[in-house]
Amino acid sequence: MSYNSYEQDDLLNQPNSEDKNTENPDTIKKRKSGRPKNNVWNFFIELGTRVQGHCGAKCKECGWEKKANAKTDDLETHLGLRCIKVDYKIKEQYMNIIRDRENLGQSIDNNNQSSKKVKLNHDRQHQQRIDEHYESLNINNSKVQMANQALVKLFVCCGIPFHLVQHPFFVDFVKILCPAYILPSRQQLSSNMLNSEISHIQLKIDAILEKETYMTLGLDGWTSPVGQSFYAFIITTQSGKEYIHSIQNLLKESYTSTERIIEVIESVGAKDFSAVVSDNTSSMTKAKKIVNEKYNHIMPIRCIDHHINLITTDICKLPFAEELLKKCMKVVKYFKASHRAGEELYSEILEKMVKGGGLKSYVKTCWSTAFDCTNSVLSCETILKNVSTFIYIN
Ligand SMILES: [Zn+2]
Repeated sequence: MSYNSYEQDDLLNQPNSEDKNTENPDTIKKRKSGRPKNNVWNFFIELGTRVQGHCGAKCKECGWEKKANAKTDDLETHLGLRCIKVDYKIKEQYMNIIRDRENLGQSIDNNNQSSKKVKLNHDRQHQQRIDEHYESLNINNSKVQMANQALVKLFVCCGIPFHLVQHPFFVDFVKILCPAYILPSRQQLSSNMLNSEISHIQLKIDAILEKETYMTLGLDGWTSPVGQSFYAFIITTQSGKEYIHSIQNLLKESYTSTERIIEVIESVGAKDFSAVVSDNTSSMTKAKKIVNEKYNHIMPIRCIDHHINLITTDICKLPFAEELLKKCMKVVKYFKASHRAGEELYSEILEKMVKGGGLKSYVKTCWSTAFDCTNSVLSCETILKNVSTFIYIN
């Protein structure tokens, strides 16, 4: 091909007979004036018009299409990782290109040009001194503590199972970063270290709450799957910041909710509270009344979210809403049960980049899902019509 100035690999330069027929003379003229095209284009046909130098592409092997803005990286990724019909040798070459792109899995003495470039850039930013190399084998206590704290935060806040701390790949990753740091065991992480971090945070919260006035205590109870009665005590400050005071299993401690509420209020400082908010269960209403009798300045308030919940639940019970939700759920259930139609819908959603993703189910106990479900059907309306034609034809 005349525009191909790179003479890399014979395989990548495979001439393709379809090429010449599909090329449009205008695009050839335009291209000659610009940058030479990457060899990856030998495996693709141009689609549509160019916008800021990029057009769409269609794979000559499997027919995969990217309708617009096809970049070299996308096409290489398709050939190396996704194309099911391309020859394995070509696939392998593109996998190498993809690997070298991010410079992963390269040995230090690799003479590959791209890795050299990365190394040079890195050296310019940070030239290692010989003593820095030895420092990495020693680690001082304060750094170990900081690392431990960061580790607990990572596992807890990202919901990562604690046993992963002993996974060989995770250990490997940490050892490469800092050989001197010894990872804790799963037990250490989930007991001592977690507890130490909890107390560290608790102390911080206590120090903040000490200075606050006009606080609101919010509480909500639920029953765990094994029948424990949990209560969450959340304190909202005047500026609207929320702090979890504690989550307690009241059955275990044989407390009544009233006693516990009073205890929490007194532990933080009864004079600094102005309200208690909860749902409207009879036990809570009674508890709030007792608190108000003891501390007149603490107002018993009903939770607005809970009331909206009650109203929406009532609305959802009306015949028109019930019928609508039933119909939406029929659509959602169909696409969940039928794998082929579901797959077609999913790829259409990805292609059209539908806001909010796919169809959502309605769950009776979670009231906001009534909106999520109907809204998801609405936003997928056109796609559902397209897919229904596909199902009808096939
Ligand atoms: Zn392909």
